[in-house]
Amino acid sequence: MKFKDEKTCSCGGLFLFSAYGEGEFGTSTCSRCGRPGASIDSLSVSVTAERLIHRSKQELEGGDYTLSIITAVMAVESYLTRLFLKLKGMANYAITFELPTESQEMEWEKEYPRSGGFKVPSDFVSQKLAGATFDKFVEGNAATATIFSGLPSSSHSSPAQYIQDRLFKQRNRIVHWGYVNSGKAEAEHCLEIAVVVVRILERMDKGTNWIELAQKMAEAARAGVAAERRHLHEILAERQQAESRE
Ligand SMILES: [Zn+2]
Repeated sequence: MKFKDEKTCSCGGLFLFSAYGEGEFGTSTCSRCGRPGASIDSLSVSVTAERLIHRSKQELEGGDYTLSIITAVMAVESYLTRLFLKLKGMANYAITFELPTESQEMEWEKEYPRSGGFKVPSDFVSQKLAGATFDKFVEGNAATATIFSGLPSSSHSSPAQYIQDRLFKQRNRIVHWGYVNSGKAEAEHCLEIAVVVVRILERMDKGTNWIELAQKMAEAARAGVAAERRHLHEILAERQQAESRE
């Protein structure tokens, strides 16, 4: 997917940037004074998710509400997947001390629950990172609880269910039932939810003690090797006993 960004120059002219996928926006020159300028993405586990949120905003402003909703959901899915792959990458690094290759990531993606809308994948990622369901994570943390409570009519509802009903169901209506008449208010609400989910997932990423997690993974890997070794010793000892009896 192609992404566009623009920034205003101090002279009042515009810098126009474009990038493909996770590629860099790079540099551009001001439309008025010709000065060079650069666009740098915010530091995030998912550059793509940030860009998709930005794109969703652009579609909303441009009046393409249906596309704005689809892109908002893609941002949430992209963030969840990146968190999962980060975890898998850490597990891999703890054992091999090598960064994952693209084909490894593609292989890991098969483990990720694709179906189940928001609830299943978000619980899957939240359990692995925070050791709790998505709802428990949101409610058990003052900052995330406050972020979520900023959404309209969100009190007394399960965060995962709310996101499922108000964001993912809107997308499904478009993708699965061919509904293309989404209105501005619907699209605004969907984007509002997607921004909140990305902010919550950012907290999950930052709140995860990745170093401790990596150490635990390395210990588990070593314990696994030790257990295998013990098992091998037992087999050899049994064989020796059997031979000595013969
Ligand atoms: Zn300029």
